[in-house]
Amino acid sequence: MRSTKHYDVLIAGAGISGIAAGYHLQTNCPDKSFALLEARDAIGGTWDLFRFPGIRSDSDMYTLGFSFRPWPEEDRIGEGADIRRYVEETAEEVGLTVLRGGRQRSRRCRRGRSRRGPGRRGRPRLDIAP
Ligand SMILES: Cc1cc2nc3c(=O)[nH]c(=O)nc-3n(C[C@H](O)[C@H](O)[C@H](O)COP(=O)(O)OP(=O)(O)OC[C@H]3O[C@@H](n4cnc5c(N)ncnc54)[C@H](O)[C@@H]3O)c2cc1C
Repeated sequence: MRSTKHYDVLIAGAGISGIAAGYHLQTNCPDKSFALLEARDAIGGTWDLFRFPGIRSDSDMYTLGFSFRPWPEEDRIGEGADIRRYVEETAEEVGLTVLRGGRQRSRRCRRGRSRRGPGRRGRPRLDIAP
């Protein structure tokens, strides 16, 4: 049976952007509920997806990394595996729960019918899973 959960905010994707969004939401908007969804089994986005030898950042990690948890390595250009670990450890350290796996892929966003009369649009609704 299908169940419906209500959140104030849904974040699609647990790459660098999604982890940063989750952190800032929980820090600056503690009264808002949110879920962080990741379609893949692992977090890290780009840095988990691409694992070819020699993959590294183009720009310095002090800029690309999180302001709230600066890049901890000495080398300013990050190796792919180090960036992946950095994203994972950051999510863990700031206590973010990531709902991951194929069932967490957001499929479409639409507005429901408003109960407040014609012409008024209802709350946005995000459909998840297969
Ligand atoms: C070799 C290489 C070097 C790079 N170097 C730099 C650099 O130096 N500086 C820079 O700024 N950028 C660089 N980039 C770009 C890099 O991809 C981004 O900077 C950054 O990692 C993107 O993070 P993101 O979270 O926005 O997106 P992504 O890393 O793409 O993460 C998006 C996540 O969302 C998930 N997702 C997508 N759709 C859904 C859905 N519908 N529901 C649920 N989850 C979903 C994906 O599975 C993925 O995990 C580089 C990229 C590569 C490949």
